[in-house]
Amino acid sequence: ATPTAIMVGVGKGAENGILIKDAESLELAKKVNAIVLDKTGTITEGRPQVTGVRWINDDDARKDVLKSMEKQSEHPLAEAVVQYLSDAETVSITAFESITGKGAKAWYGDDAYVVGNRKLMEENSIVIPENLQDQADEWGRTSKTVIWFAQNHNALAVMAISDQIKDSSVQAIQQLQKMGIDLYMLTGDNEATAKAMSKQTGIRHYRAEVLPQDKADFVLELQRQGKTVAMVGDGINDSTALATADVSIAMGKGSDIAMDVAKMTIIASDLTKIPQAIRLSKQTVATIK
Ligand code: ADP
Ligand code: MG
Repeated sequence: ATPTAIMVGVGKGAENGILIKDAESLELAKKVNAIVLDKTGTITEGRPQVTGVRWINDDDARKDVLKSMEKQSEHPLAEAVVQYLSDAETVSITAFESITGKGAKAWYGDDAYVVGNRKLMEENSIVIPENLQDQADEWGRTSKTVIWFAQNHNALAVMAISDQIKDSSVQAIQQLQKMGIDLYMLTGDNEATAKAMSKQTGIRHYRAEVLPQDKADFVLELQRQGKTVAMVGDGINDSTALATADVSIAMGKGSDIAMDVAKMTIIASDLTKIPQAIRLSKQTVATIK
């Protein structure tokens, strides 16, 4: 590509809310045949809200401990929990530990507490009563994220958190699949929720319960199959995968770290800018030859 064509392309991108940091990404975008998308904050709004809670025993719910733990966590889900528990008090918990892609642990008095996904409960040998599991399954089928809260080895509560799918995400998914590009959604969320999300968005492939490193490994796997891969994400947990991909795209409303690593940023976090960027790449490269 001639420098002039690139400059025009980068300028057009900027006019359309697509920031392109380097010429190479603009040239490569037209070759992309696989796109890996993070779920939370990328396909969804990233503004989760608690929509339901089942406490096992309302008298000893330990809302104070749950609120105090989530106050220390930086996860968007944690923010939703804190907001939901606005009336609860905060207490001084000890040994708070955040567990990437799973949740958090802490102590209060002589008791250990965990909050997070089902896997974290299994790892901590938490006993889950059948009625709570049934409730969790029902929520999962409607694409809600399910999180658990437990004291020592007993579940205290299960919560449903909902994060709206952006209309623009559904449009973008349709357009990109029509262009013959393979799309994959990766999420740390559970299988049931991921499956329901894939149905609602029309995205054909997905992987659930993936950790940040798994996201990067997945990108590598696609590259080994000979694919030119774009990674799209908004979080710190996407940064390794972003750095691995051929074309890296961050959401403008996401974390600064994702934007630092990525070579492109979609300012308004609107996924329909991706097919637009690919078209721009085609135009840019076509004007050179
Ligand atoms: P995603 O890839 O969808 O952005 P993450 O990998 O960040 O999700 O988190 C995966 C899962 O871990 C969440 O769906 C949730 O069940 C659990 N989790 C992580 N952090 C927390 C937290 N602070 N409180 C409750 N649950 C959490
Ligand atoms: Mg995310």
